Parts: sequence; structure tokens; C-alpha cells
Amino acid sequence: MKPVVPQAFFVFFALTIGGVAEPSSHGNATGRIQDGTPPFDLLLKGGHVIDPANKLEARMDLAIAAGKIARVAKSIPVAESRKVVDARGYYVAPGLIDIHTHVFAGGPDLCVVPDVYAVPNGVTTVVDAGSSGWKTFPEFKEKVIDRSTNRVLAFLNIVGAGMMGRIEQDENEMDPAAAAAMIKKFPDLIVGVKTAHFLKPGWTAVDRAVEAGKLSDTPVMVDFREVPGRSYEDLLLKHMRPGDIHTHLYAEHIPLLDEHGVVHDFARQARRRGVLFDVGHGNGSFWFRVAVPALKQGFVPDSISTDYHKRSALLPDAGMLTTMSKFLNLGMPLQEVVMRSTVNPAREIRRAELGTLSVGATADVAVLKLEKGKFGFVDSGHAQMPGNRRLQCLLTVYGGKVLWDPNGLSWPDWRGAGKYKVID
Ligand SMILES: [Zn+2]
Repeated sequence: MKPVVPQAFFVFFALTIGGVAEPSSHGNATGRIQDGTPPFDLLLKGGHVIDPANKLEARMDLAIAAGKIARVAKSIPVAESRKVVDARGYYVAPGLIDIHTHVFAGGPDLCVVPDVYAVPNGVTTVVDAGSSGWKTFPEFKEKVIDRSTNRVLAFLNIVGAGMMGRIEQDENEMDPAAAAAMIKKFPDLIVGVKTAHFLKPGWTAVDRAVEAGKLSDTPVMVDFREVPGRSYEDLLLKHMRPGDIHTHLYAEHIPLLDEHGVVHDFARQARRRGVLFDVGHGNGSFWFRVAVPALKQGFVPDSISTDYHKRSALLPDAGMLTTMSKFLNLGMPLQEVVMRSTVNPAREIRRAELGTLSVGATADVAVLKLEKGKFGFVDSGHAQMPGNRRLQCLLTVYGGKVLWDPNGLSWPDWRGAGKYKVID
């Protein structure tokens, strides 16, 4: 059936290919598309590009072809792309990388569906932090990773069954050789080792995780709790290696501050020796009373992550954009917030090819809007902090494909779309 569309729309859309109109202010600037196929599939026009990996922050056009970043330049003609998105007034960042999530088992009250969480948040890579172990990873791969719309990677729990069944206290299940063997079997998917929730005395969990890290040449992510004879200081200075990651940096149970609220010197020492610090917001691990003084003293996180699971998803709403917005409102410049959510986590998991808008890199892109207004944010203790800025994601591009576009920025106006069909 022929749609009823005013003649003017036919004329307007006749100037486009792929069904997406160039924004009206550019509509007549470069004329019609010439014969032949445009070289680019998608052009983000006029956005404020933040690409910390390349120390780039400027108003730029960004073109994508064949799933890769094809060109970043001051001006790319609209005629060179099949689709054009007007990104003026928005920020164009690499797809976000959340290195602490839970997207497999761990009990029915824990995991979330990776793409349902990630894509609306501008996250193109989620890393599951130890929900699966060396016994259960193949099931995780088959049931979740292989079926996810976006990239899912994993830290492998040093405990064989991972977080399933709450057996993370059983030392007999902590097998460095078996963990390393599984990591070597899936080097494209498993980025390191995780230890968490160990409440018994001693260093077995941490040391065996580090041993697995050594055997597989991968970093270890540590979720830690002090018990008598096991101190945070010793963890950072004696047990973790340079490149290993302490997550839950601003948790109330982490003694980052001394009794006067001053960041312990041993934490700075650990940073100097190469230990990395991650947010891991979670249900119980982000407290303004720890984060605010630490940030004031310059003790910033290397990476911003969410520890996203069912409980943290509900309250305190620990999604990536909310967590990034908290840091913005705590005074961290936007460029740094993006850096700690893209290139830094990419390097921590040794995937430097991710988290960048370099030409040739896979085209993972987040188009973000910075909203200004009266907002509030909560921490794990359910205390509140007022704020005036909040990030929103308007477009998530994964490997060149638009996965999230709630405002239809990349879609044609329905009145000129012709006989359109259901989206794929
Ligand atoms: Zn976690």
C-alpha cells in the first residue's frame, strides 16, 4: 500500500540513500549522492568527540564502514555515507566498558541479562566478574556469551563453580592449574581471574587466584575483606601484582582511609607499584563517605565499573551511566570519566584494541547526552547526594551496528520512509 505522504517529503528523501535524512541544516550543503556506493555506512556528524586513547577532544565527524571506525575528521561530506546522524550537541565516545558485572547464574537473585543492561547504557563490552569458575565457564559461554547481542568477556572465578551455590569458602575448589587451563582454552573470552567473598582467615583465595594469574599470564581482580591476620595493606603491597585490580575501592568495608579520613599511604604506595583500583559500585560497595574524601585527596579510580547484578540494579541503581554521573557530580571532568570507562578498563583487561575511536578499531561507539537539571544520586548506604548533571545514552553502536537508538536518530521520518518493514 502506498503511504500517504506529502509531496515535499518525497523530494526531501529523494536526496538520501539508506532512508535516513541528513539534518535539515546540512541538507543542501553537499548536494545529492553521486553514482556509486557511498564509502561509509554510518556518519556521526558534528558531535563532540571524546577519545582519550588518542588524546582527542574536539567537534569532529566520525565515519564507520564495514564495522570499523573508518575516518575521524573535521568535516566528512554527508554524501559519503548511507546513513547520517546529527550528533550536534552530543558527546561521541568509545563504547563503554564495564569490567565488573554479573551476567551468569550466581543464584536467581543475582545475575542480569548482559545486553538488556548494557546496550541502553552505552556499554558495548561487559566483563563478568567471577560468576563462573573453571567448572562452569563452558555453560556460561553456551547459555549467555554466545547468545548476547554485545561483547561479553569474563574473569574466571578461582572457585570451580564460581559464585553458584555460595561455595566460595571451599579451598578445595580453588585450583590454579584448572583455572589457568580453562583460561588458555578460551583466551578470546576470559581476561583474567577473580577471587571474591572469602571470609575465612588466611590468604588461600587471593594467593591461588594470583597463582592462576601467573600460570595464565592474566590479571587478577580481587574482592577483599579484612579478617584478623589478613590486612588490606598486605593485600596491596605483598600479595597483589602490578596490573592486578582491587575492585570495590570505595566500599565501607575497605579501610582506604585512616581514622582521620586520610587516604592511607600504603594505598598510594600500591598505586606506585602498579596495583590498579576499580569502583565496582554494586549493592554495598560505593559510599559517598569514602569516595568524597578519597577523591578530594586525589585518590581516583583507575576504572569505573558497576558490579551490576539484580540487587544493585534496583537500588542503588548502579548502572554505568548513573555511576559515571556520580563521578561527574563529584567533580571529575567528563573527559576523565570517559577515560576511566573506556580506554583504562580496556588496558586493565589487556584489550587495548577496545575503548578507542582509532581508525581501524572495531566501531563500538556511545553517543551521550549530558543533561543539566536538578538530580539526586544515592549510595550503598542509601544516603543521597544532590547533583546537576546526568548522562544519558542516545545511540549505542556495536561493531558498526546501531543497537540502541530510542529517539530514532538514525532512522528516517516515518512520513518519508516509504513502505517500511519491521526492524531487524
Ligand atoms: Zn561482583
